[in-house]
Amino acid sequence: MKVITYALPPLGANCHVVFDENTKRAIAIDIGGDYGYLKSKLASNGLQIIAALLTHGHFDHFGGAYEAQLEGIPVYIDQRDSLKLGGKGSLADHFGYETNFFVPDYTFTADCVLKIDDFEIKAIHTPGHTSGSCCFMIDGKLFSGDTLFFMSFGRTDLYDGKFSALKDSLKKLFELSGTTKVYPGHGENTTIAYEREFNPINDY
Ligand SMILES: [Zn+2]
Repeated sequence: MKVITYALPPLGANCHVVFDENTKRAIAIDIGGDYGYLKSKLASNGLQIIAALLTHGHFDHFGGAYEAQLEGIPVYIDQRDSLKLGGKGSLADHFGYETNFFVPDYTFTADCVLKIDDFEIKAIHTPGHTSGSCCFMIDGKLFSGDTLFFMSFGRTDLYDGKFSALKDSLKKLFELSGTTKVYPGHGENTTIAYEREFNPINDY
């Protein structure tokens, strides 16, 4: 499995596309921005998205997933964040944006294993940034949404955030193998070993 990351315009949140090099079939994690832009990039690589996984229900992580769903791509999200899609909890209003309300195709209650095509995805419930925030582990790679960033962590001062839960969630992630590569929802990639040692959560 390989990963290509697109910081989708206009908001720049990362959309990670995990794909099988042989079949060219792909899973997109967080389609928060311009879906047309993503499609044109994928077409130039010959990739086909077969599912969209959302790490949480904030507008900058699901905005383009609505259009993907209209094209028949199923959308997955933790049940606890599913009602945020387009609603108050999406934070779109808070930041002066508009989003479409939509209903996901599949919800789950982490921790669980999702089997989609040849992909085996472990959903790890990591509440704190929101109550239904999830990280996804695919092929030994961790997609950490807004829970864990390079040298940082998700904010908890917005609707449905809880700092003590986030701290526990990071503790849970730091138990993963140190060699695990981390692909956050914003910014640069990192590893569990690096964050276990240097992440500022250690100061709290
Ligand atoms: Zn967020």
